[in-house]
Amino acid sequence: MELESFIRDVQDFPKKGVSYKDITPLLLDPKAMQLAVGMFIDNLPHTNIDKVVGIESRGFFFATLLADKLNAGFIPVRKPGKLPHRTHSENYELEYGSDTLEIHEDAIKKGEKILLHDDVLATGGTAAATCKLIEKCGGEIVQCNFLVELGFLKGADRISKYDVSSLIKYS
Ligand code: AMP
Repeated sequence: MELESFIRDVQDFPKKGVSYKDITPLLLDPKAMQLAVGMFIDNLPHTNIDKVVGIESRGFFFATLLADKLNAGFIPVRKPGKLPHRTHSENYELEYGSDTLEIHEDAIKKGEKILLHDDVLATGGTAAATCKLIEKCGGEIVQCNFLVELGFLKGADRISKYDVSSLIKYS
């Protein structure tokens, strides 16, 4: 089974010029989901993981499944104003303008081993900001993993000091 066949390209979504990688066909198929989870686990370094961080919102799907498999906690990193308790925030640049992500200040204990997960690695701005949030909380990043990597956007270069792993890479 080829995971890539479960990713649907949607042209000009959410705006003109973007080729959007839609992962919902993969979510519809339990066997493809199980295969993806197994591959994520196989690609991890042999280190205990305390918590899995998922990035809002499509990062949540697999991050919670991975947390369950790894017997680890799950931490949501969210858009501003969504988390109810005290947060750390990180601002990052987009093609046009900027955006902010937040994490609960008390989500990570100093020295905890963290896996970061998101659905798509594009320019790497989102993942780099999330790495900063994790480190502000005192976490140690074990790996950043993604279902899909748009290699031609060189996002992995922005987080090259970490172990980066992607199941499907478009070069
Ligand atoms: P970036 O910060 O540029 O790496 O963008 C990554 C974030 O934007 C991820 O949370 C993705 O869900 C989303 N994203 C960026 N580009 C795409 C794309 N072509 N298809 C689907 N999601 C994307």
